[in-house]
Amino acid sequence: MAHSNHRIGIVGAGTSGVYLASLLSRQGFQVSLFEKSPQLRTDGCGILLVQAGMEALQAGSPEACSAIIAAGAPVKLFEFRNLRGDVFNAEPVSYAEKELPGMLVHRKPILEALLAEVPQSCLRFGAELESVSQTPESVVAHFSNGQHWEGDLLVGADGILSKVRHFVVPGVNLYYLGDLVWRGVVADSTFCPDGTFLVYARGRGIYANFFDIGDDRTHWGFFIEKNQLPHEQGILVPSDTDIPPQELAKLPDDARAIIEATPPEQIVSRYSYDIDPLPQLYSGRVLLIGDAAHAKSPSRARGMTSGFEDALALARYLGEGDSIAGVLADYQAERMPIVHEYQRTSREISRKIGRSHRQAA
Ligand SMILES: Cc1cc2nc3c(=O)[nH]c(=O)nc-3n(C[C@H](O)[C@H](O)[C@H](O)COP(=O)(O)OP(=O)(O)OC[C@H]3O[C@@H](n4cnc5c(N)ncnc54)[C@H](O)[C@@H]3O)c2cc1C
Repeated sequence: MAHSNHRIGIVGAGTSGVYLASLLSRQGFQVSLFEKSPQLRTDGCGILLVQAGMEALQAGSPEACSAIIAAGAPVKLFEFRNLRGDVFNAEPVSYAEKELPGMLVHRKPILEALLAEVPQSCLRFGAELESVSQTPESVVAHFSNGQHWEGDLLVGADGILSKVRHFVVPGVNLYYLGDLVWRGVVADSTFCPDGTFLVYARGRGIYANFFDIGDDRTHWGFFIEKNQLPHEQGILVPSDTDIPPQELAKLPDDARAIIEATPPEQIVSRYSYDIDPLPQLYSGRVLLIGDAAHAKSPSRARGMTSGFEDALALARYLGEGDSIAGVLADYQAERMPIVHEYQRTSREISRKIGRSHRQAA
């Protein structure tokens, strides 16, 4: 075991960072979890957490896994419709006894279930990482509030716009996937009953999905193809967040009504980006996990799942390994081919079902 008195800093309290903090603190490491927001950021919408993600959670935190099952809806049906509303394909999903389901669930109860497993003493909110320095013996993280932290390993779980990434692989560009996306959550239990995931296949420059997230709520995602202006490149949130009515009008009336019934504060909008596969996941004592390491198109719904898999694998290697250097080399050898494959196939599917060009941002 890498010495349990090792001090491990994690930057970013998203799902990847919080899960890692819970696993490592349970293993006895000295964990500090740094988050730039003043509290846990539970905003966001519904998530399809595929079976692999549920398995990665079950292996490290059966309690969190059970809480997520209780909070959402197991996927029971994928239904594909054209823009007239005709169903052209339906794929029921069934589970063997004791098989973990793929879950449709809001991001908030996922984060809360994971945070419940992290000791309060590990949490450092309002800490925005600015820079990182390291020697062969230790790594130091510097924060915008003037504080610093020194330890044995720093993990960047700080998402697609990762600051930590500059200190592992400098100069990584975001690549615009060609869509502006709105997502929302609305009180409704009839449009997508009982674990239904509805897809309106891409056409006429739009794409949409709707799914049950349990508790009589429906999540929707509405994508429009849009070129970015030069000043928008690399920006996550557009300056104009209104959904263009002429685009919404391309959906059938019943689907459009669900979106129109959503309270504005339950809607988020952002441009859709991925990053190219990184040539390495760590440098010295600094490692990347989750979106910071491999942000990808949502087309295969592997985003959150791959962050959970990263956390589980890293906790396992830290539990078994002798030195940080050996742990990181073993971790990278296992995870890099897997996350590269997720990135490659997610982008391929985006290109096949979506727009054929991307813009470097
Ligand atoms: C449109 C869309 C749909 C998606 N749908 C799905 C889906 O159905 N299923 C799925 O599995 N995935 C989906 N994803 C992807 C999924 O949401 C992400 O992969 C996942 O949330 C990434 O988690 P993370 O913890 O790695 O990063 P994040 O959730 O981005 O967390 C990063 C954290 O780091 C903090 N931070 C950032 N910078 C700093 C700093 N300098 N200092 C300190 N803290 C910092 C942030 O505040 C944040 O809390 C989707 C993504 C999009 C855009």
